[in-house]
Amino acid sequence: EDMCHITPDMIDTLAPKSFPPCMRHLNDTLRADHHLKYNGRLIYGLFLKAAGLKLEDALHFWRSHFLQNMDVDKFEKRYAYSIRYNYGKEGKKTDFSPYGCLKIIMGSVGAGDTHGCTFKHTEPNILKQRLTAYNVTKPVTEEIMDLVNKRHYQIACQRYWEAMHGAPIDAGINHPNQFFEESQKFLNG
Ligand code: SF4
Repeated sequence: EDMCHITPDMIDTLAPKSFPPCMRHLNDTLRADHHLKYNGRLIYGLFLKAAGLKLEDALHFWRSHFLQNMDVDKFEKRYAYSIRYNYGKEGKKTDFSPYGCLKIIMGSVGAGDTHGCTFKHTEPNILKQRLTAYNVTKPVTEEIMDLVNKRHYQIACQRYWEAMHGAPIDAGINHPNQFFEESQKFLNG
């Protein structure tokens, strides 16, 4: 099935259309900085794996970004291992699961980290700006800010999904990959 396999060249098109805002932001950061901090690499890497990015494609994807900042040797020594590790090919050989919303919402996010839940961990002014940049209308943005204020982060995310697709979603959002899968189901019929 197509939905179970994505390739690196699809990612920049899929991110604004179908990724939850937390993963869309990690992809934007990676494009802008050619780098992500440890937790961002882990969380985004596991999301992409669960979205159907194969190991060889993941290595290619991360390499294409990181090599804009470093040489192949450093990439291979410091980063390739952890990508293979995420896929259960190194170390304990565990097939790690992608993070769900609660784990991301409850996780700690330090200064300069970009891996948190968009609705929980983004400063309100920045969040408003980002939603505007994502073409979310003013009334929906206000509604989302109100939900965020009440700490209803996943409902805020649901409103975002609905705004992006111009349609209601039956299920609530509980996992970044579920957000993505519902989107692909909706867009591809
Ligand atoms: Fe990501 Fe979940 Fe937060 Fe939405 S609610 S931004 S999918 S962590």
